Amino acid sequence: MISRLINDARKIILKFGSNTLANSEGKMNTDLLSEFAEQTAALIKKGKQFIIVSSGAQVAGLSKLDKWSRKKDLHYRQALCAVGQVELMKSWRIAFEQYGLHVGQILLTREDFNDSNRTLNMRNTLFTLVDEGIIPIINENDTVSVEEIKIGDNDTLAARSAILWSADLLILFSDIDGVYDKNPKEHTDAKLIEVVRNIDDLRKSIDIGSTNNFGTGGIATKLDAAQMALSYSIPTILAHGGTARSLEILAAGEQKATAFLA
Ligand code: ADP
Repeated sequence: MISRLINDARKIILKFGSNTLANSEGKMNTDLLSEFAEQTAALIKKGKQFIIVSSGAQVAGLSKLDKWSRKKDLHYRQALCAVGQVELMKSWRIAFEQYGLHVGQILLTREDFNDSNRTLNMRNTLFTLVDEGIIPIINENDTVSVEEIKIGDNDTLAARSAILWSADLLILFSDIDGVYDKNPKEHTDAKLIEVVRNIDDLRKSIDIGSTNNFGTGGIATKLDAAQMALSYSIPTILAHGGTARSLEILAAGEQKATAFLA
C-alpha cells in the first residue's frame, strides 16, 4: 500500500519534524539531511518532484546559540528562529549541493494562505522552482508569526502547501512509525495502525499522548493535516524519518507506516 502510494505519486511533499532533524544531543542531524537529499535526488532522476516542509529552526538555532537554551520568552524564541533558519537552510543547501541540486527558501504565515493574491504568488513561485529542478524548502515565518497569525505547526503548513501545489502525496516524517492506538513512547504494547480511512472515527478510538522536546503539534495536528489533505483527495503517509534510508525503504514496501486514504 505505502509502496504503491509513493511509486504512483509524481508530486510529493516531504515534511520533517524537529525531532526527526535533531540528533540525540539535540543538534542538527546533518547526516540524515544528506541521506534524504541523496534519496530525493535519485527519485527526481526518475521523474518525481519534491517540496520539503522543514521544521528545525529552533534546533538549528540552539546548535549555534546554546546559551539561549533556557530563554523561553517569545522574543528570544523568535530571535532564535531567525538565527536558526539560516543554519537550517545552510544544512539543506549543503545536503542537496552534493547531488547537484539547488534549494529555495519559502517562509509563510497563515495570512499568506488567506489572501488570494499571495496564494497565487506562492503557487507560481512553487511551480517555477520545481519546474526548474530546484527544491523549495518551506517553513513557518516564526519572526512575524505571533499567536494570532500562526499556523502553529508544520503538519498543517505541509497540508496547506500540498493543497496549494496540487500534490499527489504528502509524507509526514516524524520520530514514530505512524499512528498508534496509544502513545508508543509511554506504552510498549501500543499497536501501529497501518491504514486509516476515517479520521473522525480514529480520533475517537485512540489515546492521543503528549509531544516530544521540540515537537509542537503532536499526533493531533498530524491527523488534522491528513484530514485536510484528504479533503482534497491527497493521500497522506505518517512514517519514521529517522530510520536509515526511510524514503527508499518505504518506497520498496519494507517499512511499516500509517497510510491515510480516502
Ligand atoms: P514532530 O516533531 O515529528 O512533528 P511531535 O513530537 O509533534 O513530532 O509528535 C509526534 C509524537 O506524538 C510522537 O513521538 C509520540 O510520542 C506522540 N504521540 C502521542 N500520542 C500518539 C499516538 N497515539 N500515536 C503515535 N504517536 C503519539
